[in-house]
Amino acid sequence: MSEYEALCADDGDLADLRASVRAFLAADRATYGWEPAVDCWLAKWDPEFSARLADAGFVGLTIPTEYGGHGLGYLHRYVVTEELLAHGAPVAAHWIADRQVAPGLLAYGSEDQRRRLLPRIAAGTLYSAIGMSEHGAGSDLAAVQTRAVATDGGWRLSGTKVWTSGAHVAHQIVVLARTSPLDPEHRHAGFSQFIVPTDAAGITISPIELMNGERHFNEVTFDDVFVSDADVLGEIGNGWHQVTAELGFERSGPERILSTATLVFTAARALAAHGVDDRTAAEFGDLMARMVSLRQLSVSVARALSDGDDAAGRAALVKDLGTRFEQDSVELVADLIDTLDPGAPDTLALRGLLATARLHSPLFTLRGGTNEVLRGVVAKGLGAR
Ligand SMILES: Cc1cc2nc3c(=O)[nH]c(=O)nc-3n(C[C@H](O)[C@H](O)[C@H](O)COP(=O)(O)OP(=O)(O)OC[C@H]3O[C@@H](n4cnc5c(N)ncnc54)[C@H](O)[C@@H]3O)c2cc1C
Repeated sequence: MSEYEALCADDGDLADLRASVRAFLAADRATYGWEPAVDCWLAKWDPEFSARLADAGFVGLTIPTEYGGHGLGYLHRYVVTEELLAHGAPVAAHWIADRQVAPGLLAYGSEDQRRRLLPRIAAGTLYSAIGMSEHGAGSDLAAVQTRAVATDGGWRLSGTKVWTSGAHVAHQIVVLARTSPLDPEHRHAGFSQFIVPTDAAGITISPIELMNGERHFNEVTFDDVFVSDADVLGEIGNGWHQVTAELGFERSGPERILSTATLVFTAARALAAHGVDDRTAAEFGDLMARMVSLRQLSVSVARALSDGDDAAGRAALVKDLGTRFEQDSVELVADLIDTLDPGAPDTLALRGLLATARLHSPLFTLRGGTNEVLRGVVAKGLGAR
């Protein structure tokens, strides 16, 4: 194995896996005609694609075989997710369930929950939303007000979540709620997680639309919703520890670098076709150099997860640097697009991608925890008090 192959996550059987997912994507696109998209993991919801991808063996890679998965490591998952993002594939439907609900179930779920939910996740047919944030509780998640009160056979859940991505099309929401009153000395104590079906009585899911009318996230109100004991995720009172671990999976993937990959690669092809002045070439080269360096960092996070190491600090670093890179890539393409032939087909395609990228760009540094907050995580990881 060469050092270069290891840096590229192409060592061992990873190169074969990469080639097979590329072949699948080329054949699937040729047959079904989907167009590569910017921010595909948030915006491109296509249940049929998710099922085909799973049938081909590319979902549930880290889920053990006894639960319908492939029993592989985080580097294998890294290679597949990287290729999906680089090709702008329509992956949103299964993304959250595969990325963070599956590891949560494996770490904390009951045997019944694992047998019930993991095979559906591995089949690409279970869609899950995450209900953490509230109007007064985003960066300061310990301020969550949604509460669950014990009742016969389960819990009664009341409160309002916001920015709940995909809740309107998901089967379930994993909700963080208070199960004990706030203790000001221990603000992180007394939380629990619940797996709540989106069709449960008492749930209202209201859209929050982007400026162009796209609907990805929602406000979700729980009005005395009954959740059975069988749908408590993990231990009552262990919710804070569980969501912190979950955020590690949410923040650590290549989607924090590659949301604009389709835009960047389309721009590269257009520049190559149209010719480019020295200044633009230098600026674009600088952008690509940043992408390559960030990719090495992101691979190192996947290697740490594969080895069972704590990657929270490194994941925060990649997300901070990666999402700023994504925003800079949008600005650079916006600057250089006027140097291209306006009537050429690749310029028109680039304009379409740029319009979406501009709209989504402010979201990159907010979702999954803001960059300001992540820098605090990095500083504390380095020993700052
Ligand atoms: C596209 C998108 C999808 C999302 N999907 C989901 C989802 O599916 N489920 C879910 O639960 N949530 C989701 N969120 C919510 C997201 O996690 C929050 O927006 C984020 O944690 C920030 O919280 P807030 O919006 O309340 O901002 P605030 O916490 O109010 O922050 C406002 C500003 O203050 C700054 N700030 C706050 N605290 C500090 C501090 N200690 N030090 C320095 N600066 C600080 C922040 O950086 C930010 O700039 C999503 C958000 C977006 C944009």
